[in-house]
Amino acid sequence: MKELEERIRREGAILSETVLKVDSFLNHQVDTELALATGREFARVFEGEKITKVLTIEASGIQFAMAAGIALGVPFVYAKKKKAVTQSDKVYVAPVHSFTRGETYQVSVDQRYLNAGDRVLIVDDFLATGAALVGLVDIVEESGAELVGVGCIIEKSFQEGRGLLEAKGVRIHSLARIAAMKPGEVQFIEESGN
Ligand code: 5GP
Repeated sequence: MKELEERIRREGAILSETVLKVDSFLNHQVDTELALATGREFARVFEGEKITKVLTIEASGIQFAMAAGIALGVPFVYAKKKKAVTQSDKVYVAPVHSFTRGETYQVSVDQRYLNAGDRVLIVDDFLATGAALVGLVDIVEESGAELVGVGCIIEKSFQEGRGLLEAKGVRIHSLARIAAMKPGEVQFIEESGN
């Protein structure tokens, strides 16, 4: 998505060869028009897949799952990282290790909101090591729902996440794919056209 690549070039801060800061438009302050446009793009790419639900993980996947849900006309569900007192005991759970925070947490989704009849699109802000998305894929499998694919806003293609998901046979579509980056320079992989 050209518009997204331009924003990353203009506003992204490359903190190291692996960490990209995009909090002026993506995951702290959010450009709502851009977020809605990403949702429309995922709806176009996954058209005809009869998606019934979008799934993400809190917190920074939420605005993009909502945008995709709006474009597809379906609800979105976000996996929770901490158990709330209001949460039912009937939950799907998967462990996710966060490399940015250095801790493993149990992510959960109430069983009422995901089940065997669903066709699910998973959406998240970043695909990096793939830990978060693999956790969500496991939750979809556990629920018996059909996984249609994974949509990512930014993929750091030099990290192992894509490989892990592909090994599970998952269809991935990322709106910006970064081949390599260093302070002041980011190289994108050209869009394949799907
Ligand atoms: P994973 O390593 O599981 O693929 O990524 C987990 C989460 O870490 C992503 O959903 C995203 O919120 C965060 N993350 C990973 N890499 C980056 C990065 O380069 N920049 C920012 N801002 N967040 C990242």
